[in-house]
Order: sequence, then C-alpha cells, then structure tokens
Amino acid sequence: MEAPRLLGTIFRRLIRDSGPMSLSQFMGESNARYYAAKNPLGSAGDFVTAPEISQMFGELIGLWLADIRARAGRGGSVHYVELGPGRGTLTRDALRAARHHGLDPQVHFVETSRALKAIQAEAVPAAQWHDDLSTVPMDAPMLLVANEFFDALPVRQLVRAAQGWRERLVGLDEDRFTFVAGGQPMEAAVPAAWREAPEGTIIETNPGAAAMMHEIAGRLANQGGAALIVDYGHAEMQSGSTLQAVRAHRKISPFAAPGEADLTAHVDFATLADIARSRGVRVSGITTQGDFLRAMGIQMRTERLAAGAPHCKAELEAQRDRLIADDQMGRLFKVMGLSAPDWPDGAGFGPPG
Ligand code: SAH
Repeated sequence: MEAPRLLGTIFRRLIRDSGPMSLSQFMGESNARYYAAKNPLGSAGDFVTAPEISQMFGELIGLWLADIRARAGRGGSVHYVELGPGRGTLTRDALRAARHHGLDPQVHFVETSRALKAIQAEAVPAAQWHDDLSTVPMDAPMLLVANEFFDALPVRQLVRAAQGWRERLVGLDEDRFTFVAGGQPMEAAVPAAWREAPEGTIIETNPGAAAMMHEIAGRLANQGGAALIVDYGHAEMQSGSTLQAVRAHRKISPFAAPGEADLTAHVDFATLADIARSRGVRVSGITTQGDFLRAMGIQMRTERLAAGAPHCKAELEAQRDRLIADDQMGRLFKVMGLSAPDWPDGAGFGPPG
C-alpha cells in the first residue's frame, strides 16, 4: 500500500496552485488527520489531560452532574453527552461517582477519531457514538461535558493591516509556511469592540466553537439539562495569537508538522457565554479549574483516598497539585457551567468560601 502523503506536501501543492489558505482550513485538516489515526493521550503520546492525571477530576465532575440534577428535581432518564472523550477516562470516573448519588444516565460520545473510539469502547462499552450532536436524542434532559475539546476546533485569525482588517492566511516563502494577510476586507467578521484596534493587532475567532455552543445552548433550552466546559483559555476576549502545536510533550511551531502535532488555540469563554445567554441559557459562572475543584471538595477527596491507601498519599497530593496549583493547570484552565433556563445554577461557581 502506498504510504499516505504528508499533509504538509498536500498543503504546499494547494497553496502553489490556488494561493494562500485559511488558517482554519490548515488547523481543521491538520487536527482531523492528527486525531484520526492515533491516541495522542498519555505519557507515551503527545499530551496529558486532567482526567489522565487523577481520577479525582472525573469524580468531582460526576458529583457536579448528580448534584445539579438532584436540585433540578428531575428523576427519569437523562442523557450524558461527552464531546471528544479521549480515552473515556473522565466518563468512567464521573459515572462511577454519579451512580453513588443516584444518577445513572445513558452515555453518548461525540467523537470522530476511529482510533479513540476503539479505546473508548473498552472503557465505556455501553456508550453510543455520534459524529456530531445532531443525532443525540432529545427525549430527555442532557448533561454535557467537554474537557479539552473546544481548544482543538479550528480558529480563524484576523489582523489589522494598514488598509484595514484582513484574514491571516497561510502562504509559502519558498518551501516554508508563513503568515500572509489576505486581500479581502474582513471588517464584518471583527467584533465591534475591536474594529478600531491599532495596526498589527491580531484576534482569533472560532466559528466552529460558536456553532457548537449555539447548538448546546439550544438543546439545554429545549430538552433541559446542564453543561460543564473545561479548557485552557480566557474569561475575557483578548488579542494576540494563541495558536500552538504540541508533540511529545513539547511545543513546536504550528507549521512544523501539520497532521502530526496537536494544534490548539485558547478558548474564548466570554464569547461562548454570550452565545449561551442569547438562547436563554443560565451561565452559572466562569472560574478557574483550581477554584472549581477546590469548591467541589478536591481537598477532602484527596484525604479520603489517601486514608484508604496511605502509601499513595504523596502521589495523590502531587496529582491534586497538578490539577489546582496556579503555576500548573489551576489558573490557565477555566471551567464554565451552563444550565437550562428552568434548572438551578451549578455548584462550584460561588465566591471562594
Ligand atoms: N476529553 C479528553 C480528550 C481531549 S483530546 C480528555 O480530557 O482526555 C480532544 C478530543 O476531541 C479527542 O477525543 C479528539 O478525537 C476529539 N475531537 C477533536 N476534534 C473533534 C471534532 N471536530 N469532532 C469530534 N471530536 C473531536
């Protein structure tokens, strides 16, 4: 069989034939290729996510879901939906904890990677798989979780050039990918607050993330339920490029190896929250992962696990610190809670107690 062509080779030919390409196409096709074939998660892969660091992460999310569902006063069936569930670890830990509190939902995974689906099927055999949200049933409330999903969706970058706003496209300098400004005026794609920004300003927008949030919010409003979105990003819209590529736990240039490294961008939580509100959905808050997990009782959970396995105490505490310390994942990662208009706010977003 012929080896699949390197994506970089395909992109170069495309650019030579038809001119510079949109960054969102570059990023979207790179990640589709990247995730299709391999399991990038874990110490042998390219990056490690919170559920792979400690079972406590998924357990406290399971508790959050069981708590909001109980306070909503809903019995009956409910759909647990996870976007991009990776190895299925978060779901497994969350549902084990949730079942202790009377929540035993049907499981739906939105996943496009064939390699990861196979791993998920071993972790959560009862799950049903979907290519996107559209086929998830609407006959019961939805409890949706997404951890490090939105950061993988392709961003578009816009730059304020001398003549006005232009899209930042990927072009070629000899054989090397390089950013070039497009020729079309892009003012209409720039949020009003940024239109007059100084020359050189770069902003990112994420039409795919916006569309996904629009659909999640519409479902929460129609079928009831709640959602918890966790990712690195910012609570206020910011300027500057946050595009990055990670391979084998190291940052590399986003142009170095398309299709072979994980391309991500920071999630703009403020914009996602505005979209949710525009459909009548309640935003419980946007907080840091550290504050959220502390409010959900990670300290007590660490002590409880350590009491049951004293020889693991130091390891458990190190895992906890990786999740919540300011200089680790605690501050960069944000958590946003959403709930249906007639559901209560989620726990964990109050002022620090
Ligand atoms: N949530 C997991 C995995 C994060 S990695 C964890 O925390 O460990 C990103 C996940 O999103 C992978 O499962 C990847 O295959 C999936 N993914 C990326 N882009 C996607 C898309 N457009 N549609 C569906 N799944 C996608």
